[in-house]
Amino acid sequence: MQLYTFLDWFFTIASALMAILLGYYVSGSACLLGLLFYLIYPFIIECSYNILSEQEEIIIRKMPEIPIVYHENYNITACGIEKWHPFDSCKYRNVYKQIRSRIKAQHFTPSMLSRGTLLYLGLSRWYLLKMCYSAYISTLIELPVFFLPGAFLRSSLLDPMLLATSGSIYAAKLALEKGWAINLSGGYHHASLNGGGGFCIYPDITLVVNYLKKCQNLNKIVIVDLDAHQGNGYERDFLQDSSVYIIDFYNSYIYPGDHEAEQAINCFEHVDRNTTDEQYITRIQRNLEKHLQDDMEFIIYNAGSDIMAGDPLGNCCISPAGLQKRDEVVFKWANHKKIPILMLLSGGYQKENTYAIGESILQLIP
Ligand SMILES: [Zn+2]
Repeated sequence: MQLYTFLDWFFTIASALMAILLGYYVSGSACLLGLLFYLIYPFIIECSYNILSEQEEIIIRKMPEIPIVYHENYNITACGIEKWHPFDSCKYRNVYKQIRSRIKAQHFTPSMLSRGTLLYLGLSRWYLLKMCYSAYISTLIELPVFFLPGAFLRSSLLDPMLLATSGSIYAAKLALEKGWAINLSGGYHHASLNGGGGFCIYPDITLVVNYLKKCQNLNKIVIVDLDAHQGNGYERDFLQDSSVYIIDFYNSYIYPGDHEAEQAINCFEHVDRNTTDEQYITRIQRNLEKHLQDDMEFIIYNAGSDIMAGDPLGNCCISPAGLQKRDEVVFKWANHKKIPILMLLSGGYQKENTYAIGESILQLIP
């Protein structure tokens, strides 16, 4: 357990005890002091953490045999409440097991990045503070979890997502070394540095871009977002930044419909349930050929699988073979142009599709 998470639990329990003891020994209204402490303590630990936590250098001490990044703690389990959401929160484990059953080479296991590093990469202090409160988290994940203690949501939901976000950044470093890398999670493309939504909390794509710019001195980065939804989070972050080139294919009839963020997109194609595999692949081929320039230095490929037929949120109609072909085409273009590529799994909500994701990744591994 992270020190932060431990302190969160410690102060939550202290608040509850304070309320009970004051209510019992002093008066009924005195127990409100416990509630007040419960509301205030996040300010104290947030401010302390922001001051005390230092930026760390992102180092890969032992190069893995294959540039696949995965940690068992990516998987979200919260005493069963995760089952209320259509999101298959253990798809990462299932995809990993499928890959592992056929490839025994050692993958990379990431550690959690420090708060100082997240702040250095641009994450908003105010946004981090709001994440301490369950009522706010409820709005990001579209579940009525406002009655749960913030510490519970931190250990069951925020920490796995932060670990996956850290994994995306480590995977970016691996991609620079090996030419490609896949983080078996991440791709939280509705989250920006200042806010989240659509089950996306930490803006891993923006943080990866900022890492590449600040720590690796790259300047021409392209995001190829083929998830069924618009990547409005990072688009908002890069509205004023022309050095980040954005190719985004999505179903414009579904969430989020963020017209302001659309202005950051350099290449858009609409995809819906009438788009066939053939049309989809042809459009990807055509646009990558047209938009991938020789001077581009890094590709972040957001490979959401919610474009597949039957997905309750994507409302598209691509087959498992189409998904496999799509990933193959993107990797081939990256290889052809000799641009390092980082793949993130992003959306994809059906348990039945996990097998197709695993097969698609397996065909990408040389
Ligand atoms: Zn999606």
